[in-house]
Amino acid sequence: MVVVHCDAGKGRTGTVIASALIFGGYMPSAEDALDFYGRKRFSNGSGVTQPSQRRYVSYLEDVYKQRVLSPAPKELRKVVIGTRPDIAKFRPYFAVYCRDAKTLVYSSKKVCAQGRDEHKGKSARDEKFPISPNATIQLCGDFHVSVYQEKAMFSDELLCRMSFNTALVPRSKYLFRGEITHRCSVLRFYKHELDPDSVSQDIRLRSDFYVELTFADVCDKCNSYVPIEQYCPRCLQAAALEADNWKNMRRIIEENNYPTSADELCGSAKVRKSAIGAFLHELSNRAGTDVSLPDPQLFRHSRHHVPCQRDAS
Ligand SMILES: [Zn+2]
Repeated sequence: MVVVHCDAGKGRTGTVIASALIFGGYMPSAEDALDFYGRKRFSNGSGVTQPSQRRYVSYLEDVYKQRVLSPAPKELRKVVIGTRPDIAKFRPYFAVYCRDAKTLVYSSKKVCAQGRDEHKGKSARDEKFPISPNATIQLCGDFHVSVYQEKAMFSDELLCRMSFNTALVPRSKYLFRGEITHRCSVLRFYKHELDPDSVSQDIRLRSDFYVELTFADVCDKCNSYVPIEQYCPRCLQAAALEADNWKNMRRIIEENNYPTSADELCGSAKVRKSAIGAFLHELSNRAGTDVSLPDPQLFRHSRHHVPCQRDAS
């Protein structure tokens, strides 16, 4: 028996179990795995609700299906906060943290305070707040970006945050915004995609509120679609802390020969069923309900929706 647990047995537990369902070949996509977990764990089907946890399950799918091969280093050039929240004296700034969510990489608090006068007198709700860092922020791997409201008398308020991996930043392209500047890529997180999940209930933020991160490539040659072994020396150095993890992931994926077609998926699921069954039996105990694996044959008919059925075995 394998026990999967965390404090609440909801978000982190669900992230691991949904990932295991994909790894075991039982679910063809992150969306299916999260949906299956949600329906079995809670009567209302809510399951994993933190947007970044859901995003990381889809990251696992992308990595596992080898849509991305390496942790491309990127340079964070700009953060734009889209639409003004209903906050008197909106004083935003952002901070970037390492994967532990505690080690600060960069904070724009000072540069935002210096440039704040230019925002005076503007009050349109559709106003955008672009923040350009005053330092080079080169990132490679997992990071958190938090957006704060600076407060004079009290602790600054966390408005929202988001977690991402630079490997999953979209391929760079030329952006036409008045003039061609440079190749860059944009990650935009809308209100419902921001952590914590309570952000989606924050009535101070409009429904079209977003935070946009603009990245530039650090190299023309090395990107997420190039194996790390083929990186140039400069990018290899930037990815040094990530290299072993990605090499290990590729080795595991290649050894397991992840299936890419529905037919292969069925065969794979049969082989892996015994290994992963323990996860689901524990889930069944926690949820107080039957948790059964879907029949792998169902994958033949649909790669997007797998109905739940009792497993005779
Ligand atoms: Zn390079």
